[in-house]
Amino acid sequence: MAVPEPRVALVTGANQGIGRATALALAEDGCRIAVNDIMPEELAADTLTALREKGVEAAYCQADVRDAEAVKAMVDRVAEELGGLHVLVNNAGIIRDNYLAFMKMEEWDDVVDISLKGAFLCTKAAVRKMMRGKWGRVISLSSDAGLMGDMRRVNYSAAKAGIAGFTKAAARELAAQGITVNAVAPGIINTAMTADMDEPRVKGLLDLIPLGRFGEPEEVASLIRFLASPQASYITGQVFQVDGGLRM
Ligand code: NAP
Repeated sequence: MAVPEPRVALVTGANQGIGRATALALAEDGCRIAVNDIMPEELAADTLTALREKGVEAAYCQADVRDAEAVKAMVDRVAEELGGLHVLVNNAGIIRDNYLAFMKMEEWDDVVDISLKGAFLCTKAAVRKMMRGKWGRVISLSSDAGLMGDMRRVNYSAAKAGIAGFTKAAARELAAQGITVNAVAPGIINTAMTADMDEPRVKGLLDLIPLGRFGEPEEVASLIRFLASPQASYITGQVFQVDGGLRM
């Protein structure tokens, strides 16, 4: 089917970090942008303001990606206000680190539910819109942690490994509908999520990264931008690492 013009993209957890950089990168590529975050709009105006300053047609959609009703209402609103929904970036995610033996139930549930259940709910709602035009792009944030396992992060590693399986299964199902489904697995990226690591941990990680530095959100966003584009038409079911060579 024909590539929709303009494409409308929904980015979850887009108030800061990789989500914010992704929203801005997709806007550079001509997309209209729906900025989702859990924060109320008055506390979260930054990404929306940046988009509007660039003259991009954009909307802010507060919703908790774990809430099925809220997600469905958000997707309906995006399609109505921005003219469809063609690109979904499942970016919302959190960490709640603890040793397995001491991990509290809510630390497991919050992390798994926001990353994995959130991706399921948003994708389910979004592909129903994409199917109408037989064109769509779903890109979800996995992590090196999901591919390698990470200390004190069984919750996060399981959720992000789940994203890889979810991506491959959804890619098989949705290919016939003209929808590609891929995942991006960043290594260590400079965002709020990685900001409070102590000096020895930073040094230990830098020693493992061949490129010798942490990544920037824009370096993840540029791959997502490509995967969301018409040019990525023959790529589906893949998990791409953006990690400076941390895991080869
Ligand atoms: P970030 O800066 O912490 O941003 C995540 C955003 O998601 C925040 O704005 C957060 O809002 C929002 N959010 C949290 N819970 C939500 C919910 N239930 N519904 C909607 N939005 C919610 O994180 P980031 O580093 O950019 O990470 C983005 C994604 O990349 C995540 O999936 C993360 O796991 C993944 N990733 C990051 C790295 C890294 O090194 N940074 C590495 C690998 C993978 P609040 O701040 O209000 O909670």
